[in-house]
Amino acid sequence: MRQLSASREASPPRGSIRARSPRRLLAAAGARVASGFGAPRLSVLFFHRVLRQPDPLRPDEPDAEQFARIADWLATYFRPVSLSEGLERLDNGTLPSGAVCVTFDDGYEDNLSVAAPICRARDIPLTLFVASGYLDGGIMWNDLVIESIRHLTPGVLDLGDLGYGRHQVEDDATRLAAIGSLLGQWKYLPMQRRSELAETLAARSGHSVASPMLARNQVSQLANDGIEIGGHTVSHPILAQMDAATARQEIADNKDALEGLTGRPLKFFAYPNGLPQKDFNEEHESLVKRLGYQAALSTESGVSSTQTNRYCLPRFTPWDRSEHRFVLRTLLNTRHAR
Ligand SMILES: [Zn+2]
Repeated sequence: MRQLSASREASPPRGSIRARSPRRLLAAAGARVASGFGAPRLSVLFFHRVLRQPDPLRPDEPDAEQFARIADWLATYFRPVSLSEGLERLDNGTLPSGAVCVTFDDGYEDNLSVAAPICRARDIPLTLFVASGYLDGGIMWNDLVIESIRHLTPGVLDLGDLGYGRHQVEDDATRLAAIGSLLGQWKYLPMQRRSELAETLAARSGHSVASPMLARNQVSQLANDGIEIGGHTVSHPILAQMDAATARQEIADNKDALEGLTGRPLKFFAYPNGLPQKDFNEEHESLVKRLGYQAALSTESGVSSTQTNRYCLPRFTPWDRSEHRFVLRTLLNTRHAR
């Protein structure tokens, strides 16, 4: 197990035997469970953003302080490796127990400014899967919905004319409920319709939303800093909803764009939304393979073994905020080899 890293927000006082014992127990349990009692297992975690400050309208995204704690736990109880190293060592039988990869999806600017420094300080390698169509000022439809509802004047949001009812928007709780309801109802609509609805909502809020995404030159900078960049399509469609030619173009154009920015071939791809059979299928797996990717990742939870399909590698998000629960949930996930 690695030593505690420089930042110690979540660490017990040094020399405190009582505080350290449970940690040692967890570490020992971690080494055994994460190794699958002999069989190599690779955990891949995925996140989207690390917020500068807590945001009541984005309760599922960790803020910098929470993510620093998570990074400390990963550095303490697990063995962070890059995706390249993890998959290579899974193949050649040298994967360390507790091996874990950290990935981010979509291409948010805070991956560079907030998450990367936290991970760098703890020697945690990162892979970022970037939807290239939003670089340099773009915004994804779900962010447009959240930011528009954040800035609505308190009162009733009437979307009856669009078929989506009336929503009370007063405080954080009612705004969050409206966001949850609309994102849930719109998520699987055709892409064009989804965008139109989000744009209509933005127009009604009257607020112009700043882009939270990376710029092109920042993608180049990240790659030069040793962060792995992976493909995630151009516009983040649900691939299973598209015809084969358009899906191919989404994947191929994204790969070309990102290779142009990083100056190196992309090795890994993450399927948008990422649920096997719902958001993508075997057709997309073979497409990704034919386009030259070495592996592709889903959002189905579980852990990878030597038997796992390289074009449908599982990932999961450990959402617990307490140390023991986080470690245990991450360990328990390793029981589900795909
Ligand atoms: Zn995504």
